[in-house]
Amino acid sequence: MLIHELSTAECHEVLHRSHLGRLACCRDDHPYVVPISFDFDGEHLYSFSTLGQKIVWMRENPHVCVEVSDIVDRFHWTTVLVFGRYEELRSPDEHERARERARGFFEQRDEWWQPAAAKAGPIEHHVPLVYRIVITRVSGRRADRPPL
Ligand SMILES: Cc1cc2nc3c(=O)[nH]c(=O)nc-3n(C[C@H](O)[C@H](O)[C@H](O)COP(=O)(O)OP(=O)(O)OC[C@H]3O[C@@H](n4cnc5c(N)ncnc54)[C@H](O)[C@@H]3O)c2cc1C
Repeated sequence: MLIHELSTAECHEVLHRSHLGRLACCRDDHPYVVPISFDFDGEHLYSFSTLGQKIVWMRENPHVCVEVSDIVDRFHWTTVLVFGRYEELRSPDEHERARERARGFFEQRDEWWQPAAAKAGPIEHHVPLVYRIVITRVSGRRADRPPL
């Protein structure tokens, strides 16, 4: 089995064609990982959420990691790790263009607000939020097994 390191451009290709990742955040030395949907514009991952644990934690500690994978089996897979910083897009002035950009991506998918809007928690947590991950570093690996 061969494992190749991906170039930044190859990592970006994976991020452009994927819309599902696992977002890891951390508070008080406790990790937390949840699946999320996202869109990539070449510099940021955009996502939609309602208020809940991940948002509360990322507001406190904005350093995050997102894992994106394309796994066929143990011998054939591609994974990309994105390291970056949480940025909430809540200011109508400062973030207007970024929010529009995010909305443009989201609207390409049917019922884009699901499952983020299907909140299990209390009603005061049903607050819609748009955020992005400002990417500081990516790394990627691809595994292949040449035919025997
Ligand atoms: C394919 C897919 C795509 C998704 N896309 C999005 C998205 O784009 N945006 C988004 O906000 N959410 C998305 N979700 C849902 C997401 O994974 C979380 O369940 C949801 O966002 C609630 O997270 P929270 O931190 O607000 O949890 P809260 O509602 O605050 O709940 C906190 C507690 O609930 C438990 N919990 C929360 N989520 C999960 C889970 N998924 N599985 C098991 N236990 C859990 C944990 O124990 C956690 O401590 C997606 C899920 C899937 C499977």
